[in-house]
Amino acid sequence: MCGVFGIENNKNAAQIVFAGLLNLQHRGQEAAGEAVYDPKIKTIRCHVGRGGVLNAFNGAPAALGGSCAIGHVRYATSGKIVPQNPHQNAQPFVFNTRRGQTALAHNGNIYNDKELAAALRRGGAIFAHTSDSEHIMHLIERQKGPLLQALPPALKKLNGAYALILLENGRLIGVRDPYGIRPLVLGRLGKSYILSSESIAIEMCGGKVVRDVAPGEIIVIENGRIKKSFIFERKKRFAPCVFEQVYFASPASRVCGKSVAAARMEMGRALARQMKDIKADFVMPVPDSGIFAARGFAREAGIPFEFGLVRNHYMGRSFITPDQKIRENIVRVKLLPVKEKIKGKKIILIDDSLVRGTTAGKIVKLLKDCGAKEVHFALSSPPIISPCFYGIDTPTKKELIAASVPLPQIRRQISADSLTFLSPQNLIAAAGSGKCKNFCTACFTGKYPTGIKI
Ligand code: AMP
Repeated sequence: MCGVFGIENNKNAAQIVFAGLLNLQHRGQEAAGEAVYDPKIKTIRCHVGRGGVLNAFNGAPAALGGSCAIGHVRYATSGKIVPQNPHQNAQPFVFNTRRGQTALAHNGNIYNDKELAAALRRGGAIFAHTSDSEHIMHLIERQKGPLLQALPPALKKLNGAYALILLENGRLIGVRDPYGIRPLVLGRLGKSYILSSESIAIEMCGGKVVRDVAPGEIIVIENGRIKKSFIFERKKRFAPCVFEQVYFASPASRVCGKSVAAARMEMGRALARQMKDIKADFVMPVPDSGIFAARGFAREAGIPFEFGLVRNHYMGRSFITPDQKIRENIVRVKLLPVKEKIKGKKIILIDDSLVRGTTAGKIVKLLKDCGAKEVHFALSSPPIISPCFYGIDTPTKKELIAASVPLPQIRRQISADSLTFLSPQNLIAAAGSGKCKNFCTACFTGKYPTGIKI
């Protein structure tokens, strides 16, 4: 879970990356940073900091001159940020290599990283960070020839998901893994090209989406032109992550050419068809993640849509407390009930996904405490039964409630009057479009496109 963004051939590169990162903020709030190439001194300057973009940059874009820049927002899936060394693992990473300076921003996760890193260590490598992203650069460095020649053999060693942006010598190099699991979009702003995890960050900077970077593609951009683009590895299957549509991407983005908001509305409509026998006074989302699906549900079912829970936007995901009691009550701090709407009502409550089951249990209890007559809990995705090894932060199989507890028991455990999950077929129909139907659904099926066996 991370976001990457880059722009070239633009004298406001540092400011545009800053704006781009603000629009990718939902992809990670643990650290942020940007690296800018200054052609006058042929050097990459870098600024990284902890927290969301505004925190990391002290409220304003870094004063980094140059016309080519990349940025990163981070949510750790590999290599936690440690308080003793707050800049460790914050990207972009800048490397002084025998080929010159290179900066790297990575979204994704490398499954075989442990073995790769162990081999690198045995060969004498010393790491400044603890994340898989640094190891990718070490693998590249060990290949012969110029960077573009070195990339394919190094990338072929990786089993996992990656969208990379490299900044080298005033040019941008974008890379997407051969299954296209993580997204990477190409955009145009005047005479500049942009690479971004999501379309919304391109559009909010005034740019236009050109196309998705293809699975297994390496694209080289310099001086406002695509200098080179080739497929370094072709797989039979294009397997973009369906969880981008379910939860992760901004509803204002287009993923695989389809509006995320529209996909979530369709998920809600399909849920309504699955639940047509359940009668309720209104449909209510768990904000913000359930809003669009609940809207679709209400339209399809022809019942009212209500906000009975208000989200406290002043506490981010970074609300971490060592106190178990406070942690238990976190839902009560984050989601505030509108009691008058809830009392005496039969409610269909929609969220996007059930992970550990903590949120579901707390919210249903909260609604019942406020006098709800019935709470029918519905999820706009199937039960999550397998961990993600491709960059979405899901816990181990042991912690995934649907992996070990039968669904009727989960319903009883969370005190819901009914519990419904969107069927896998309905999810694919809602999320898919055009060529994009063969999603990675490993978290729902345990079948991993890159051949991982657990
Ligand atoms: P849980 O309470 O563990 O069942 O988690 C479910 C809630 O977490 C839902 O409200 C989701 O919107 C949200 N969620 C789902 N996946 C993630 C994720 N990878 N990181 C953070 N939150 C998530």
